[in-house]
Amino acid sequence: MSDYTNAETLVLHGGQYRSDTNTNAVAVPIYQTTSYQFNNTEHAANLFALKELGNIYTRIMNPTNAVLEERVASIEGGAAALALSSGSSATALAIQNLCSTGDNIVSSPHLYGGTWNLFVNTFKQFGIEVRFADPEKPQTFGELVDEKTRAFFGETVPNPKLKVFPIEEVASIGRELGIPLIIDNTVSPLTCRPIEHGAAIVIHSLTKYIGGHGNSIGGIIVDSGNFDWTANPERQPLFNQPDESYHGAVWGQLVPEALGAPIAFAVRARVVLLRDLGSAVSPMNSFNIIQGLETLPLRFKAHQENAEKLANYLLKHKAVQQVIYPSLFEGKDKTTADKYLKTGYGPIVGMVLRGGADAGKQFIDNLKMVYHVANIGDTRTLAIHPSSTTHSQLSLQDQFKAGVTPGYIRLAVGIEHIDDIISDIDQALQIADKK
Ligand code: PLP
Repeated sequence: MSDYTNAETLVLHGGQYRSDTNTNAVAVPIYQTTSYQFNNTEHAANLFALKELGNIYTRIMNPTNAVLEERVASIEGGAAALALSSGSSATALAIQNLCSTGDNIVSSPHLYGGTWNLFVNTFKQFGIEVRFADPEKPQTFGELVDEKTRAFFGETVPNPKLKVFPIEEVASIGRELGIPLIIDNTVSPLTCRPIEHGAAIVIHSLTKYIGGHGNSIGGIIVDSGNFDWTANPERQPLFNQPDESYHGAVWGQLVPEALGAPIAFAVRARVVLLRDLGSAVSPMNSFNIIQGLETLPLRFKAHQENAEKLANYLLKHKAVQQVIYPSLFEGKDKTTADKYLKTGYGPIVGMVLRGGADAGKQFIDNLKMVYHVANIGDTRTLAIHPSSTTHSQLSLQDQFKAGVTPGYIRLAVGIEHIDDIISDIDQALQIADKK
């Protein structure tokens, strides 16, 4: 880690200060290798016993991935990170690192659809229960806790409602009980730093704003390094009971001295779960994501400025019934957004068209520049009509509960010139409004 604290500097230098130590390369090299030659048998034994840190096999660690991990950890104010093959894998492993069959977590219900499926269907098959609290009432997280509760979970700015999660309030309830808060910060890098508000673990889909160019899938788990896994041993059995798969290691206690920080969570996720489940990110994808990360502060500023301008434009548009954007919220929702979003209100704008479902579909079909995709976090502006796509499996009532009305459109605002974004959206709105 370095003395630098500014994100603009960390994204360029974090994890590789003044060139690669082996080659003097300035750009981060792609270490496209599966394995690493051991110096001798003692070296090999020390690496396997975690007495010494070093590369063994790329499923578990890789020097290109290591630069990405240190850079993302540094911008989040974390102590360590673990890069993975996707954001979905980061969500799954972060929870599997704490839960066995019979355990539960308490989550916000406002989630990315893939996370919802994982929580409601796939984790159920594994015997992990997800209980849903109401983020409008943070105390409901505490009310759902029992002796088997291992974690709290929320997304900083979940779409479609874009209501910001009360990180500090929920994290402090959890810390008193020995329960870590895991925050998915995919939609709000830099503008929110959940660890500063008490989150123990932060995850990202690197596929989105950090990679930022719509070309590589990846995910990451960031360990704050400040959660005490041993304070209440019964609360976190996986960190307090001997792990037979690792010579009886007790992960909460046995942080190897060589690690230099209390990063038991990141270490266990890597050497147990990544070792066994194998969802490693490829060095090539890490390289692509690092290229994106290097300009994240510039790009994210542009995304947020464009989103703010577009939201204000749409507010006055006759075809638009409602605009959903955190800077336009009022009352408690605005206070929460102001508390957690420091440099802008994010890159996602929601709008509800007066013409309902038909207008929504026509709007999408008439876009000329804006892409129609089930994605966010590309440099290009993206749009989707959730009611006929991502949320189409839900009943109208459940869609409504999720914040998806028939005329709702989600816009992931890109970094094209704002005039061109507005012009394309305006012409598509006009055609949709006439029909
Ligand atoms: N978290 C959020 C907020 C997302 O939007 C997504 C994907 O859309 C994910 C996690 C999953 O990420 P990935 O597609 O990289 O698996």
